[in-house]
Amino acid sequence: MNIETAKKAPFWWEAVDAHQTRAALDRDLDVDVAIIGAGFTGLWCAYHLSVLDPSLRIAVVDARHVGFGASGRNGGWCHAEYPLGHGQLAKDHNPDIALRHMRALFDSVDDVGRVALSEGIDCDYAKGGVLTLARKKFQDAYAREEVDHAKSLGLTDADIRYLDKDEARAMLNATDVVSGVWYAHGAAIHPAKLVHGVAGAAERRGVAIYENTPVTGLMHGGATTANGQIRASMTVLATEGFGSSIPGRDRILVPLYSLMIATEPLTDDMWAQIGLADRQTFGDFRNLIIYGQRTADGRFAFGGRGAPYHFGSKVDPSFDADDGVHKELVRVLVELFPQLGNTEVTHRWGGALGVSRDWRPSVTIDRPSGFAYAGGYVGDGVATAQLAGRTLAELIVDNDTDRTDLPWVNHSWPKWEPEPLRWFGINMGLNLAKAADRRENRTGKPSRLADVGNWLRGKRD
Ligand SMILES: Cc1cc2nc3c(=O)[nH]c(=O)nc-3n(C[C@H](O)[C@H](O)[C@H](O)COP(=O)(O)OP(=O)(O)OC[C@H]3O[C@@H](n4cnc5c(N)ncnc54)[C@H](O)[C@@H]3O)c2cc1C
Repeated sequence: MNIETAKKAPFWWEAVDAHQTRAALDRDLDVDVAIIGAGFTGLWCAYHLSVLDPSLRIAVVDARHVGFGASGRNGGWCHAEYPLGHGQLAKDHNPDIALRHMRALFDSVDDVGRVALSEGIDCDYAKGGVLTLARKKFQDAYAREEVDHAKSLGLTDADIRYLDKDEARAMLNATDVVSGVWYAHGAAIHPAKLVHGVAGAAERRGVAIYENTPVTGLMHGGATTANGQIRASMTVLATEGFGSSIPGRDRILVPLYSLMIATEPLTDDMWAQIGLADRQTFGDFRNLIIYGQRTADGRFAFGGRGAPYHFGSKVDPSFDADDGVHKELVRVLVELFPQLGNTEVTHRWGGALGVSRDWRPSVTIDRPSGFAYAGGYVGDGVATAQLAGRTLAELIVDNDTDRTDLPWVNHSWPKWEPEPLRWFGINMGLNLAKAADRRENRTGKPSRLADVGNWLRGKRD
């Protein structure tokens, strides 16, 4: 298995006309709601707005095209996760509020499936849950703690279960499995099919989408582009990890790169040995996150962190491929499944996800300034952006619902440090997480380096 012949492009984009061109904005535009960014946040917001009030004039603009950002490139885990974990949510607020937020996230996983079905969006949705493997003895304690902790917050066996070695291996026959955790609230999806499907559903309800229209600045009552001004009563910023070039945004959400590979389809015999019969998404308890899914056409789509943060919060297509990180992903995948040694890697790619200074996501509306925004999902944005987009829509039309008073609503983010401190802290943190994994592999014991690394990366809780 090697990366030499792999195409440098997201595997997902082949199933959709990813570069399909909708017209660019070529004049001034007056709308009720302008949405900047055609990813999950922006498109779910547009879709739900058009459902809630069909008379609204809604326009979505994207610098490139629908699904160009993380929404069209991700690992396809549509799962209910809060970046710092649900335990942190309970510490920040209280267990009842945390449980309500968690239940809203659980619902969003189902909502994605429900809307996909009702709108005729074929996005390969399979709700098989999320499997986290413990592959070192000390990680078994992490698995037990995670389940005990979730139950202390009010979750039940129907939500989360500890798996002993045999149960975990029956789901996924990777090497060195000690135990695992199975979490019910996750579905595997095809991200590009979903994001293009949501765009189509919004358009059918009258939403206008303009592609190749970079917003160059924000102004009171709208935004500016090269070819015209957009005037709107409410402007929604939905650019997450891809929006740092908008003036004044580079210290709000930093773009952290996550990289992926896809293999050729495996044979049925190989899948019979490996498992994932219900298309569970999977990862393990290492420090530098890895994530995988069995695609509907029988490939591994597999990704991980570890790519460097780029000075000044820069985002650039040249950062989507990194030989070192892609080779490491291949190495880890073969370590997990040695039978993949001769399997071809067909695609490799990457993209930026958005991280706020306090690692908390936010859904915010500021009526006096006429701006709203959501993001900061730290790599857990697929289902979360559905909840965020829907909540933004409800806030904009002033509907009070069970979602509009969740604790992330109007959470204000501290700014990231100026450079070069930001560059130094984040990259040092990433390097320490890598070093911690190497040390844990060598010693079989937990390493404190990961805690120091998290602290330096800004993850201080
Ligand atoms: C490789 C990778 C794997 C991931 N895996 C998972 C996963 O498995 N599960 C999960 O839950 N999350 C995952 N994530 C995170 C998740 O994909 C994102 O959190 C989510 O898609 C963010 O959606 P969004 O709509 O907020 O932003 P994006 O999808 O990033 O969309 C932002 C859009 O804004 C546009 N834009 C930027 N600047 C401008 C401008 N000036 N003018 C106009 N438009 C602009 C961009 O072109 C882009 O299309 C992953 C992310 C990456 C990168």
